[in-house]
Amino acid sequence: MSTSRPIRTCVGCRRTDERSALRRYVRADRGLVLDEACRAPGRGAWVHPDRECWTRALRGGFARSFRAPVNPDAVDRTPFGR
Ligand SMILES: [Zn+2]
Repeated sequence: MSTSRPIRTCVGCRRTDERSALRRYVRADRGLVLDEACRAPGRGAWVHPDRECWTRALRGGFARSFRAPVNPDAVDRTPFGR
């Protein structure tokens, strides 16, 4: 490896990017939670803070990543701050 920068795959567009360019989400009892510190335990799914990526992630990317259905209405916070 020529780089030590952490690379993750966006569950929306499925492109790889630097970790710092993506937001991490984890599954919780109440749904999806934005993991701002990137330290929550368990499997995380990464997504760009981009409307298109977010929409695609909700339509299947998250479910695929978590291997479980995700309720789009049970999202703690979008990557857009609201
Ligand atoms: Zn993306």
